[in-house]
Formats: sequence, C-alpha cells, structure tokens
Amino acid sequence: PHPHGLPGVISPWPGPQGLSGLFFNGLFAMFHNVKIPKENLLNRTGTVTVDGVYTNPFKDLKDHFGASLAALSPARISVVQMSVANLKLALSIAIRFSATRRQFGPTDDEEIPVLEYQMQQWRLLPYLAATYALDHFVKTLFMNFIEFKISLVMKEKSRRKAELGRELHALAAAGKPLASWTAQQAAQECREACGGHGYLSMNRLGDIRNENDPNCTYEGDNNVLLQQTSNYLLSWVTVKHQDKAPIESPFGTVNFLEDYHYILSQKFIASSAEDCMNSSVPLAAYKWLVCYLLQESDLKVNQKKQSGCSDFEARNNSQVYYCHSLAIAFIEHTVLQRYHDYTHDPTIPSTLQPVLKQLSALYGLWSLSKHMAVLYQGGYISGEEPARFIQNAILELCSKLKDDAVALVDVIAPPDFILNSPIGRSDGELYKNLWSTVLQGSKVLQRPSWWAEFCTNKPIVGRLRSRL
Ligand SMILES: Cc1cc2nc3c(=O)[nH]c(=O)nc-3n(C[C@H](O)[C@H](O)[C@H](O)COP(=O)(O)OP(=O)(O)OC[C@H]3O[C@@H](n4cnc5c(N)ncnc54)[C@H](O)[C@@H]3O)c2cc1C
Repeated sequence: PHPHGLPGVISPWPGPQGLSGLFFNGLFAMFHNVKIPKENLLNRTGTVTVDGVYTNPFKDLKDHFGASLAALSPARISVVQMSVANLKLALSIAIRFSATRRQFGPTDDEEIPVLEYQMQQWRLLPYLAATYALDHFVKTLFMNFIEFKISLVMKEKSRRKAELGRELHALAAAGKPLASWTAQQAAQECREACGGHGYLSMNRLGDIRNENDPNCTYEGDNNVLLQQTSNYLLSWVTVKHQDKAPIESPFGTVNFLEDYHYILSQKFIASSAEDCMNSSVPLAAYKWLVCYLLQESDLKVNQKKQSGCSDFEARNNSQVYYCHSLAIAFIEHTVLQRYHDYTHDPTIPSTLQPVLKQLSALYGLWSLSKHMAVLYQGGYISGEEPARFIQNAILELCSKLKDDAVALVDVIAPPDFILNSPIGRSDGELYKNLWSTVLQGSKVLQRPSWWAEFCTNKPIVGRLRSRL
C-alpha cells in the first residue's frame, strides 16, 4: 500500500536510508545503489566524457536551456490534441441532440428543436467555433514541433535550435491550458445543454468531462504553465528595453510586437455589429490587448523589484494581474491569427469560405468578450456602442451558423460506434436510439434482484419505537 494513501500522485517515498522510490497509480519503483551505464545517458543537449567531464554544444546557457525546454513540449501538444478530441465528442452529442429535441414553440400546437432557441445557440455554437479553431491550431503546432525536430537532426546552428525550442515551449505551455480549459467548460455546458438526457450515463457526457479533467493538471498544472509563456513574453520586453538584438520568432507568433508602440496607440474602429462580423476586428483588438497586458505586467514586475521585492516575489505577486491573462490573451491571439489566415486563404473552396469565416469571427469575438473589462480599462474601447456591437455580432453569427451546425459536427464527429452516445447518433433518431440502448442493457425487463426481499421485509411502522 502507498505510504501516504494518495493514489494517482507521484510522491517521493521516504524509505529506509539509501533507498529512494517513486509511487504512481499503485505501482512503485525503488533503486538502491544502482549504476546506470553511460550508454543509457539521455544526452541530446549535453553529455559526459569518459573522463567524467560534462560538455554541451551551446555557448550560451540560455540557448542550452531553450533547447532543453522543448523536450517537454510533445506531451503538452498531445494534451491539446486530446482536449480537441473531447471537444469534438461533446459538441457532436450536444448539437445533434439539440437539433432533434423539441420544446415549446411560438404557438401552443407547435414544438421547435431546442437549437432554435437563441440561448441554446449561444451556449453551444461558440464552443463549436472554438473546436474548429483549436483543431487547426494543434495541427500547425504539431508542424512547428516537426520543424524543431528537423533542426535537431539537421544539426542547425545552436542559436536557431534554442529559438525554435523557446517559442515552441511558450506555445505548448499556453496552448495546453487554453485547450484543456475550453474542453472542460464545453463538456459541462454540453452536459447541461442536453438536460436530463445529458446526465444519463449511457450518453457519455459525464465520461467525456471526467476524462478531460486531468488534462488541466498533468504535464504541468495549467496555472503554473501559463507562467512559462508570460516569462517568454516578458523577456521579449526586457531585451527590447536593453536595445539588444530582438528575440527571434521562427514561428512568427511574437513578430507583431515589433509594432508595440504603434499598436498601443490604436483604438477600436468598427462602427456597427455588421463590421464586427469579420475576424480581423477581434484580431486587431487582441494585438492591442497582448501589448497592453505585456506593458502592464512588465511595469508591475519592475515596480515591485524597485520597491525591494526579490525577483521571486515580484514575479509571484504579478501573476493574477496581469501575467496570467497576458499568457491567455497571447495564445488566444495566436489561435485566432492562425485560423483567420487559414479561413482567408484563397485556396479554401469558395463554397466553404463563408461558413469558415463565420466560425473564425465567432471564435474571435466570443473569446475577446471575456476581456471587455481590460479593453475598457486600457482605453481601447469607450462608450456603450462597441460592447453592444460585439454582443449583437455574436448573436447574429450564432443565428447564421445554427443551420449549418449539424453539418459542421458531421464533419468532425467520429463514427457512431466510437461516439457511442444514443442521443448523439448521426441518424438523429433520438428516442428510438435511447429506447433500443435501454433494451439492450442486461436484465432490464426483469425485476431487480432485491425486489423479493424488499417486498417481504417491508418496514413495520412503529417497530423501533421501543428502542428510541
Ligand atoms: C491523472 C494523472 C496522471 C499523471 N501521470 C503522471 C505520469 O505519468 N508521470 C509523471 O511524472 N507525473 C504524472 N502526473 C503528475 C502531474 O504531472 C502533476 O500532478 C502536475 O504536474 C502538477 O504537479 P503537482 O501535483 O506537484 O501540483 P503542485 O505543484 O503541488 O500544485 C498544487 C497547486 O499549487 C499551485 N501552484 C504550484 N506552484 C505554483 C506557483 N509557482 N505559482 C502559483 N501556483 C502554484 C498549482 O496551481 C496547483 O493548483 C499525473 C497526474 C495526474 C493527475
């Protein structure tokens, strides 16, 4: 048995002197005076000679660190992929259900699918847009990873390897929190959007939510990981202040920061909800938001240092406002930029462009709307109108996408036998599928095993009175 009684968590095992061990999910490994042969050394970014001297090919310690960090990225990219898979499952079930489940209509004798309700559209369709945007993002992130791997194999310059490694690390460290949290919130919303049927275990939304849950913790707790990305961005500003050569961005995600001062002088320009229905509007707002949060985070960290805080305290006490939201805004900007570029690519068939552009605009506006307070606080927007334009554009996009929603989930849903959810089956035969699944259960038409006992040993009212 585990000495701390905490299954599922790795803990150092305080064994007898000289023994150390790890415990994980009911298994542990212990080592005592074990020599690891040199040929088993994990030494891609540094090695030890036969004489016991440590060497590495990097001149600069930071470059070495940058290249080493990227080793942590593939597992985090896999978590993004798993989160996107969970999004696809949950949305397929909830949208197919919502298109077939009917409730009150405009007249007493007409019932309409619940997807016709504005509230149902607003609860589900932004998550559908997020699924498409994140799906595209993780494919591009995987290609970034391949590019980094190729740089290792091709023995490119150590500086370039380090830059690729650092940027990949910053993207994976924020991409994982964004994708896993989005899937977590979506799974819960989808569960509730299917009412009582969503709670029914055979429909699988509970399983999807549970299976996504550890994505927020393993491969690094989401809140801690975001610090890695904000540190990367803060180091960009530090280098800029010191007039040193800028941090290169091989994947191009921080290149826009070169226009930092110009971007901070910009204002929200859309003059109607119609104007907002293009993802270039939230994209411009995100550029401003990242620059503003970067400026504020940098200011805060430096003010704390000047007032006598250690580096640790200064960083630690600047997380809530604003390093945390800086990392989130940065990764949302990256996801949106990549999806915007993809949906506006002329090679996308013209028949698909309208609906994909709507998804891109909806994802951008819906994500941006969570940062409204900061957009007002920093003066990017002012007055009542911009907020109203954004709200109306979100509702209008939901309404437009509603008719394509089932086709859009048909594209991303796995085959029925994998989705394995009676209310989410592609034929839309909601009640028939539910009923046949119930009938296929074991002994469903028999009385339960405890029935006879329950009927014969009925409680006698007042029997315990003498013992009270
Ligand atoms: C299902 C599951 C499977 C796992 N599988 C593996 C595996 O196969 N191999 C493996 O090695 N590990 C595995 N892990 C461990 C996992 O990687 C860690 O649980 C995870 O990295 C979080 O670390 P921790 O548990 O030590 O959390 P802690 O570091 O103890 O964090 C606890 C809380 O404190 C907060 N916190 C910690 N540091 C800071 C900080 N600097 N600033 C602000 N807040 C902070 C965190 O946000 C968190 O909320 C698994 C975990 C789970 C849940």
